[in-house]
This record gives sequence, structure tokens and C-alpha cells, in this order.
Amino acid sequence: MTPLRFDLIIIGTGAGGGTMLHALAPTGARILVIERGDTVPREDHNWDPVAVWKDLRYRTTEHWFDEHGEPFVPYMHYGVGGNTKFWGSVLYRLRREDFGALDHLDGVSPAWPIDYDTLAPYYDRAEQIYGVRGEAGADPTDPPRGPFPHPPVPHAPGMQRLVEEMRRMGLRPAPLPSVCSGPATKVDACSATPATRSRASSGRRAMRRCAVSSPRSPTGTSRCGLARLRGVC
Ligand SMILES: Cc1cc2nc3c(=O)[nH]c(=O)nc-3n(C[C@H](O)[C@H](O)[C@H](O)COP(=O)(O)OP(=O)(O)OC[C@H]3O[C@@H](n4cnc5c(N)ncnc54)[C@H](O)[C@@H]3O)c2cc1C
Repeated sequence: MTPLRFDLIIIGTGAGGGTMLHALAPTGARILVIERGDTVPREDHNWDPVAVWKDLRYRTTEHWFDEHGEPFVPYMHYGVGGNTKFWGSVLYRLRREDFGALDHLDGVSPAWPIDYDTLAPYYDRAEQIYGVRGEAGADPTDPPRGPFPHPPVPHAPGMQRLVEEMRRMGLRPAPLPSVCSGPATKVDACSATPATRSRASSGRRAMRRCAVSSPRSPTGTSRCGLARLRGVC
């Protein structure tokens, strides 16, 4: 049997592996993607916040062991899209100081070999791919950055009142940088009713997987067409 040969092997299809695949697929390199999990089944339960968040239907049932040898079930999801299928869709950049040595309660986090300025252009590209919403300059802890690709998610009326009150107190509440809805979702997940919001949420996570980790031809044409982007691929 002729052995298969690849230029690159990417292990895992979450935000890390998927985004890397998205960037490298158009180069024409032969890329093998290895994923230990299956695709998340499209079923009513994955549109149900109780099933996903409370009953933890999709979380792994495997056991890990802590430093005392005690078993515990980790909050991990193995599948195409990884934990990134289930995350809160908040896409913060590391702060400038995170790249230096940081003194924490449990010890020193050593300095990175690169700094924020080196990564900043890649953050820009990733935010474009993911369609991040936010307001540059609103968060005083933000590192230097340009505008977000999309304006922030509008506050609900109750939240808006809280934000105004906090501002009157001299505080600086800022919108989370988030991926809330995108052109490929039929429903605006930010303004939908709870039932439709849940569906839109499933769709947008699916969109994220398709956007970054669907197989692409060497020419960069995604095999996951727009029609499929609109649902769970
Ligand atoms: C409920 C929840 C909410 C979260 N909310 C946020 C948030 O709002 N913002 C944020 O920044 N982060 C959030 N996180 C953390 C976020 O999920 C991770 O930072 C992010 O998904 C990590 O991406 P990743 O690609 O590194 O890993 P993952 O998305 O976990 O992907 C790893 C992939 O590797 C696969 N894999 C693992 N081992 C193997 C193996 N041996 N062989 C082959 N494949 C393997 C897994 O199946 C998985 O698909 C949240 C996490 C959870 C659980």
C-alpha cells in the first residue's frame, strides 16, 4: 500500500486547529486534520439550553485525575468544532501585559517569547473571520487596536439602564467582544425570542465550524456551501 503523505497535520478542529486550517487551506498544501470526536448530531437537544448547559448532554463522560489521584469529569467536549462549539462566543484579545512575566497568586507566569504587537495583525484577521462585534476604546484594559469588524451588540433596555447608571457613577462598562450573529444566520440571535435565539445560536456555532474547519479544495473553495452554512453542516 502506498503510504499517504502530507505537508501538515493539524490535530483538533476547535478554534485553534480550525482557524489554522482556514488560513493554510488556500496554500495548496496537503493537510491532514485529525479529530478524536464525531460531529455533534443535529437534534432538538442541541437547540435546548437546558440540555446543553444544565444537563451537559454533550460533555465528555471520561475521567481525569487531580493531583491527589481523585477522579473528576472535565468540562471538555470532543467533537468536530471542539469546545468551540459550546463556548460563550466572547473573543477577547490578550492584554499587552499578559505577554510579559506576570505574578499570580499561584506563581509567576513567565514572559512569552513574542509580544502583543507581533500578534496584533493576526488578531485583526481572526476577528474578521469570526465577525467579532465590539466597541474599540470602550474597555480601558484593551490593548491598542483598530475598530471591530462590527458594532457591538445593542443592550437590552434593562441592561442599558444599568450601563447608564454605572457611567453616572464614574465606571466604564464596556460591551464584550462577541460573535453574536452573522450573515450566514437566518435569525439575529441578539434580538430573537428565547426559542429562536437558541436555534440561531446552534446555527451560528455551526457557521463558525463551517467557516473555519470545513474541508477546502486547494484553490480555497469551501466544500461547505452557503446553503449548508445556513444550517448545521
Ligand atoms: C462552556 C464553555 C464556554 C466557553 N466560553 C468561552 C468564551 O466565551 N470565550 C473564550 O475565549 N473561550 C471560551 N471557552 C474556552 C474555549 O472553549 C476555548 O478557549 C477554545 O474553544 C479552545 O479552542 P481550541 O481550538 O484550543 O480547543 P478546542 O475547541 O477544545 O478543540 C480541541 C479539539 O481537539 C480535539 N482533540 C483533543 N484531543 C485529541 C486527540 N488526541 N486527537 C485528535 N483530536 C483531539 C478535540 O476533540 C477538539 O475538537 C469556553 C469553554 C467552555 C467549555
